Amino acid sequence: MKKVSLIFLFALLSFHAMSQNSILIKNVNVWDGTSDKLNYNVSVLIEKNLIIDVAKQIDVPKDATIIDGMGKTLIPGLSDVHVHLALTMGMNEIRNEADWMYTAVKAAKSAENFLMLGFTTVRDLGGPAFGIKRAVDEGLIPGPRIYPSGAFISQTSGHGDSRNRNELSTYWSGTPMHPIDALGWEFVVDGVPEVLKASRENLRKGATQLKVMAGGGIASQFGPIHSVQFTTEELKAAVQVAADWDTYVAVHIYNAKGAIRALNAGVKCLDHGHLINEEVVRLVKEKGAWLVPQTFWTTAPASFWAPGMDSIPPKLNKKIKPVLEGTIKAMDLAKKYKINIGFGTDAYGSLGFEELALSEFTARTRWFTPQEVLKQATSENARLLSLSGQSNPYTEGKLGLIKKGAYADLLIYDGNPLKDIEVIVNYKKHLKFIMKDGKIYKNEL
Ligand SMILES: [Zn+2]
Repeated sequence: MKKVSLIFLFALLSFHAMSQNSILIKNVNVWDGTSDKLNYNVSVLIEKNLIIDVAKQIDVPKDATIIDGMGKTLIPGLSDVHVHLALTMGMNEIRNEADWMYTAVKAAKSAENFLMLGFTTVRDLGGPAFGIKRAVDEGLIPGPRIYPSGAFISQTSGHGDSRNRNELSTYWSGTPMHPIDALGWEFVVDGVPEVLKASRENLRKGATQLKVMAGGGIASQFGPIHSVQFTTEELKAAVQVAADWDTYVAVHIYNAKGAIRALNAGVKCLDHGHLINEEVVRLVKEKGAWLVPQTFWTTAPASFWAPGMDSIPPKLNKKIKPVLEGTIKAMDLAKKYKINIGFGTDAYGSLGFEELALSEFTARTRWFTPQEVLKQATSENARLLSLSGQSNPYTEGKLGLIKKGAYADLLIYDGNPLKDIEVIVNYKKHLKFIMKDGKIYKNEL
């Protein structure tokens, strides 16, 4: 008797699981993440967290939930390979004012914001994102898949050295670790042994790639934009540690000299690259490396650089102008040499700033067709993310594709983004359906 009821219970449970996990989206026009056309009037079958069929005719599983796509466009979930989920405030506020729990809650909100814009995957390029990733993966909070890098690895006076001017290095002062380091924001290190240690500390926490500061930036406190940071030996040390975990190093770099040094040390991804030259682009091509530029800077209003102002103050503009001019030159070269280009926006600073990430779609149409830009933000980014090798946490399915065996990360838009990229940008009007890992986060169909 007991046995029978157990079998019955088991049958009931598996029936329940099936009816929960099988979803058929019919009557949609599918863009698969690579092709240059839509596949009209097809159905997509999802079981648990994977796409198991895309076809004109699919036998409807008995207990499938059926969703009518009403002739709208279904595409892979978008990805952004340069975000900082925990950077929702200025660094000074984070280090001096914000309780770490408050920072964490804001980071969780930022993760949700990215997901609701259509980004189902992000690569976090610095900052404490491990806890947010875990909470998202466990289903505690809504958010995209996260590839975390952990703490920025910076040299003394490098782009990730956010100490105040008067703060002595712990090395000289013997004081305990700075709170900003202890909270997982940055490692300020010099010399091969320290680089090795910082790199391994990040991997120990679960970094899927390493982020190293290889030169100055606009927002640098101490390292000027032309500065080259870390020696070849130091860069090679980080690359070796990453390679031993079957993953790679991405660097923050604007200038050509630092980019060349990084590429020759084995770095696989240049983030920013706004001041690179033809020699760098050729080297990127030769090495099969990647460039992740932020082209929306060239179209952003002055208030983006100088909040509350309608023109950029001259002193700041002296820094910004060459970067914006350089961006256009770098992109012209990148297009000419057909190098690998990732879609990463570095949109951070305040909750709500995530929306800026969408303006990157419009800005890139200066160089690419909407289809090419969408490819960068889906299947091409997936290729870049796959450089994490055996450190890749998401290996059940493919990312950035609508195909049998891909993750059920998908979006449905009213309109055709291959014809008009504004369909993606004006998400409030056009984005009708968001699914990540087989779970529905928005449904306005
Ligand atoms: Zn960044």
